[in-house]
Amino acid sequence: MRPEHPSNRPASTSPLADTQREWAPDPASPLPLHRQISAFFMAKISSGAWPPGMRLAPQRELCRQLGVNRSTLVTALGVLADQGLIEGRRGGGTRVTAVQADGKAEGAKLFGNWNDYLEEGTHYPNLPAVQAINRLEYEPGLIRLGTGEPAPGLLPGAAMTRVLAAGPLPPLSYEEPLGSSSLRRAVSRELLKSGITADPASILITSGALQGLQLIALGLLPRGSTILLEKPSYLYSIHAFQSAGVKFSGLPMDQGGLLTRHIATEALRTKAAMLYTIPSFHNPTGIVMDRERRQSLMEITGGLGLPILEDGAYQELWLDSPPPPPLKALDREGRVLHLGTLSKAASPGLRIGWIVGPEPVIRRLADIKMQTDYGASSLSQLAAARWLDGGYHEEHLMVLRGKLRERREFMLQLLQAHFTELATWSIPAGGFYIWLSLHQPMPLRRLFTAALQAGLLLNTGDLYDRGDSRHLRLSYAYASPEELSRGLPALAGIIKQNIN
Ligand code: PMP
Repeated sequence: MRPEHPSNRPASTSPLADTQREWAPDPASPLPLHRQISAFFMAKISSGAWPPGMRLAPQRELCRQLGVNRSTLVTALGVLADQGLIEGRRGGGTRVTAVQADGKAEGAKLFGNWNDYLEEGTHYPNLPAVQAINRLEYEPGLIRLGTGEPAPGLLPGAAMTRVLAAGPLPPLSYEEPLGSSSLRRAVSRELLKSGITADPASILITSGALQGLQLIALGLLPRGSTILLEKPSYLYSIHAFQSAGVKFSGLPMDQGGLLTRHIATEALRTKAAMLYTIPSFHNPTGIVMDRERRQSLMEITGGLGLPILEDGAYQELWLDSPPPPPLKALDREGRVLHLGTLSKAASPGLRIGWIVGPEPVIRRLADIKMQTDYGASSLSQLAAARWLDGGYHEEHLMVLRGKLRERREFMLQLLQAHFTELATWSIPAGGFYIWLSLHQPMPLRRLFTAALQAGLLLNTGDLYDRGDSRHLRLSYAYASPEELSRGLPALAGIIKQNIN
C-alpha cells in the first residue's frame, strides 16, 4: 500500500499539453483537418505514447493548440470515441480508454495505466499555473510580461561564442565532486568583489541555483522541519522543499526587507531549522534588504543559532548603486549558506550556479550531487570559467545594466500612463521585477486566463504567496519595448473588465 499524498500536495495536469506543441494539422493538405487530427491522435494511442487512462487537455485548450475550431475537434474526437479509443468522463474530461481491447492472451495480467504511478513519486508536481507558464513560454506570439530571465537579445551570444572558441576543448571528462577547480577558483575571485571570502574548497558548482536549493532541501533538512522565509517568495513557486517534507513559515516584509522582529517568535514557535532569504532584488518584490536589517537579521538568528540560506541570484544586477554586502560577507561563524548563479545575467541555459558554505556542508551536498548527476556539464563549467576569468562577465554586466535601466524606465512610463487608477508599485533598484499591487483584490486565476486569451502571459502573485489576490510580478527584462507598449495597456483593460 502506498502512502497517501499529504493533503497539500498539488495535483498535476495532463501531460498531453506538452506533447501537443509538436504538431498541428496542415490546412493545405487535401485531407480534412478533423481526419488529420483523428489520425494523429490514433497513432499516439496505438503506439502507447498516450497510454490508457491519460487525460486529454480540455477541448478549448486543444483547439487553441491545434489552431482549429470546436466543431473540427469534436468531429475528430467523435471518430476516436466510436472506435473505443477515448472516453468522456463526467467532470473528468476526456481520457484515453483505460484498458485497450488489443487481443491480449487470456489470463495475461493487464497493465492498468500509468496514472496510478504519475502522482506517486516523492517529488511534487509543479503548481498547475507554473506548469502552464513553463509550457506557454515556448508558444510563439505570446507577450511574456513576467518572465524571470533576460530576453535572448540581452544575453551575450556573440561573446559566449568567442569564449568557446578561445582555446581547444579539453576531453570533457567528468569533473571532481565539487566541480571544476578552475571554475571554483574563478567563482572565488568573483565572490570577493561582493565581500565574500571563500576558498574553492568552500564552493560547490551546481546546475543552477535551483539545484542548490534542491540539494540543501534533500541533504540538510529533516522531513517535517520548518524554514522561515519572506512572504511572498520565489520559493513558494517551486516544490523543492515541500517535496523533501519541509514546511514553510512566511514572514512579512516592508520596503526595507524581511521584518526581523518576527523572526524570534516564529523560529521558536515552529522550531525552525533554517531561514531562507533573497536580500537583494527580492523575487518577486524587487525589494533590497537595508544594511541595518541585514545586521539585525544576523544578530537575531545568531542568538537563536539559526542557519541562513541566502539566495544571491540577482545581487549583481544592481541598476542604481550596489546593494549592501551580502549576509555571507557578515558571517564569521560559517552559519550562512550562499547561493549564486550565472543565470540571471549571463546565461540561464548554461545551468551554472554555486553554493558557498562550510567545507563539511559543501562535501555533504557534493556527495548528493554526485549521486544525482555526477556534476554539472563539463562544457558549461569550462565556458563559465573562461567567461569569468576572461573579464567577459564584468564587461557584459555593465552593458546589461544600461539596457535594463532603459527597459525599467520604459515600463515605469507605461505604468504611469495606464495603471495609476488601478495599482501602485515601487521603483526597483535592480533585478528584473516590478511588483504591481492592485488597488482591488481579484481572482488571479481568472485574470491569468483572460490575459492569455488576449495573448499575454502573466506571473500572478498567487504563485509566490498562495493566498495573494492583488499582485502581479511584471518583468522589464523579457518583453520587448514594442511588446510592452502593446501588452501593458491591454492588461490594464483586462484588469478593468475583471473589476466590474
Ligand atoms: N533563486 C531565485 C530567487 C530565482 O529567481 C531563481 C530563478 N528564477 C533561482 C534561484 C534559480 O535560478 P537558476 O537555477 O537558473 O540558477
